[in-house]
Amino acid sequence: MKDHTKEDELARKDREINSLKLQVEEVKKLAAINERLLLASIKEQERLLNELSKRSELILKKGLEIRELQAFNDIIAVASRHLYIKDILENSLEATIGSLESLEEAVGRKVKVSGGIFLADEHAGELVHFTSCGIAQEALGCKGRIPVGECICGMVAQTGKVDVIPYCNASRHMQGRHPVCMEEDHAHVSIPLKSGDNVLGLLYLYFVPPGYLQLASDATIFTSIGNYLGLRIEKARLYEKVQELAILDGLTELYNYREFHNRLGHEFQRAKRYKKALPLVMIDIDHFKRFNDTYGHLAGDEVLRSMGRLIRESLRSVDIPARYGGEEFAVILPETAPEQAEVVAERLRSSVADHPFSVEGRNVSLTISLGLASFPHDAETKEGLIKAADRALYCAKSGGRNRTYRFSSGRKPCRRVTRAEQE
Ligand code: GH3
Ligand code: MG
Ligand code: MG
Repeated sequence: MKDHTKEDELARKDREINSLKLQVEEVKKLAAINERLLLASIKEQERLLNELSKRSELILKKGLEIRELQAFNDIIAVASRHLYIKDILENSLEATIGSLESLEEAVGRKVKVSGGIFLADEHAGELVHFTSCGIAQEALGCKGRIPVGECICGMVAQTGKVDVIPYCNASRHMQGRHPVCMEEDHAHVSIPLKSGDNVLGLLYLYFVPPGYLQLASDATIFTSIGNYLGLRIEKARLYEKVQELAILDGLTELYNYREFHNRLGHEFQRAKRYKKALPLVMIDIDHFKRFNDTYGHLAGDEVLRSMGRLIRESLRSVDIPARYGGEEFAVILPETAPEQAEVVAERLRSSVADHPFSVEGRNVSLTISLGLASFPHDAETKEGLIKAADRALYCAKSGGRNRTYRFSSGRKPCRRVTRAEQE
C-alpha cells in the first residue's frame, strides 16, 4: 500500500514536471514571439521615426518655400508700385533686404543685411553703382565702377548666374577673385538682374555674420528676385523712353510745342505764387529759307539739330528750352531777373553767330534774332507773355536781325539789348 502511494506520488511529480516543462516550453515560445514582436515594433518604430523626420524636414522646407514665396510677393508688390527706375530699385532694394533678414531669422539665424545695385553700362562694358542701402558707396572697394568680368560682381554680370560666398574672407583669394569687401567678414551674394539673357544690372548683398545661408540652398529666391527686377528695369526704360518721346522734339531733342505750353503754364503759376520774375525768350533763325534753298533741306535739318545742342549748352539745367515751331525756339528762364535774362539771350546769340555750321565740308555762318519779355514786368498772363516776346522778336528782325530786343510796354518801342550795355 505504501509502495502504491509512493508510485502515485512519483507519477504525480512526473506529471507536474512534465507540465512545468510544457509551461517552460510555452513561455519560451511566447518569449520568442514576444521578442519577434518587440524587434518588429522597434523596426517599425525606427521606420516611423525615419518617416517622421523626413516629413518634418519636408514641412520645414515647404515652410521656408512658402515664406520665400511670401517674401518674393512682397518684393514684387513694392517694385510694381513704381514706374521710374530710381524709385523701383531704391524701394525694392530696401524691401529685399528686409525680407531676407526676416527669412533668415525664421530659420534661427539673426543676420544684418546690407547691399546695393549696379546698372550695366553696355557701351563702357562696366557696372556702374546706382544705389545702396546700409553701406556707403565709398566703403566699396570698387569705388562705384566694375569692369564686366572683374571682381565677383563683374564675373556674375558676365556669367549671369547667382553667386553665393558664405565666408568672404576665407575665399578672398579663391580662384583669383577679389570680393569687394567690407572690413567685417560676411557672406556675399551677387544676383544678376536679367531680362532674358541680358544682364541689365547686379544686386549685391552682404550678410553679417557670415555663414551658410538657408536661403541659398537652391538659390531660387535670389534668381527670382534678379529676373523680376531685370524685367522691371527693362519696362521702366521703355516707359521713360515713351515719356521722353512724348515731350521732346525728335530733331532738336528740345521740348516740343505741347510740352513748352505745359511747362510755361506750370512756371507761370509758380512765378505768380512766389512773386518771382519769369522771362521768356523767343528765337528765330535768320534767313533760314535762303539757307534751305541754297544747301537743301537735309543740311537745314542738321542746322536745327546743332541749334538744339547750342541752346542746351548755353543754359542751366533748370531752364526750359523748346522748339516752338519750324525754325523757331523758345526758352523759359525760371527765377531769373530780366537783366540776367538779357545776358543769357545775348550769350546765346553770339554763340550761334560764332558757331561754324559745317555744310558739305565748308563752314557756314548763321545768325538768330531774339525777343525777350518778362512776367510781371511786361505781361500779366501766359498768352500776354508770349505775345510780348514775339513782339520783341519782330523788332529784332526789323531792327536788322542777329540781335536781341527787349519788349517795352505802353507806347515805348522795344529796346535793343547789347553786350556793351551789360558790361
Ligand atoms: P527770317 O530771317 O525773316 O526769319 O527769314 P526766314 O527765311 O528764316 O523765315 P521764313 O519764315 O520765310 O522761313 C522759315 C524757313 O524755315 C522756311 C522753312 O523751309 C524752314 N523750316 C522750317 N522748319 C524746318 C525744318 O524742320 N527743317 C528745315 N530744313 N527747314 C525748316
Ligand atoms: Mg520763322
Ligand atoms: Mg527765320
